[in-house]
Amino acid sequence: MKKGLLIILSGPSGVGKGTVREYIFSHCNLPFVYSVSMTTRKPRINEVDGVDYYFVSDEEFQKNIDNNNFIEHASFVGHSYGTPKDKVESLREEGKHVFLEIEVNGATQVLNNYKEAGVISFFLMPPSLQTLEKRIKGRKTESKEVIEQRLEKGRREMQLAGMYDYVIINDRVEKASKLIIDIILEKIKEAEEAN
Ligand code: 5GP
Repeated sequence: MKKGLLIILSGPSGVGKGTVREYIFSHCNLPFVYSVSMTTRKPRINEVDGVDYYFVSDEEFQKNIDNNNFIEHASFVGHSYGTPKDKVESLREEGKHVFLEIEVNGATQVLNNYKEAGVISFFLMPPSLQTLEKRIKGRKTESKEVIEQRLEKGRREMQLAGMYDYVIINDRVEKASKLIIDIILEKIKEAEEAN
């Protein structure tokens, strides 16, 4: 059986990665699975352990780093986030296509370490910096200081878009999501035909 694809969706905080991912997963029956990340951040209202994230302590997260259990991990405005290696690898070995939605530092690690065929990367770009600022501020879940940190980081990250296979402008969630879905479907078809 051929190894499944590794699909990476990244982009600056506030660009709408989560919304696009939800649209993709709820609007079509695509043959791929979402990789649930581990984080030291506390759950927000409505977030469920094991569904949105695996919520863990700093100690547990560190243990996973020490045991080399992450494909990538990154610190993001005071919290740690990581992609569990064993789950992603076993799913791909079973021929399943795995979808990661991660921030730019972690995505850069994956792009540098997985230079194999079968990795497809998407950078989600805001239509403008003003839009990004408005979206981050509109969230109302973070302090003013955290919002400023996220914005500054976003400005720097947008300069890395050229590393990705595809840059998708998120001016409308539906349009951006459909573009991504079409590309993924085409890549899955190509991978199957090459089999
Ligand atoms: P939030 O705290 O808003 O859920 O997520 C903050 C950022 O962390 C988002 O940009 C999200 O895409 C990213 N993120 C979520 N899971 C992971 C992960 O496993 N690795 C990395 N590097 N970033 C992640």
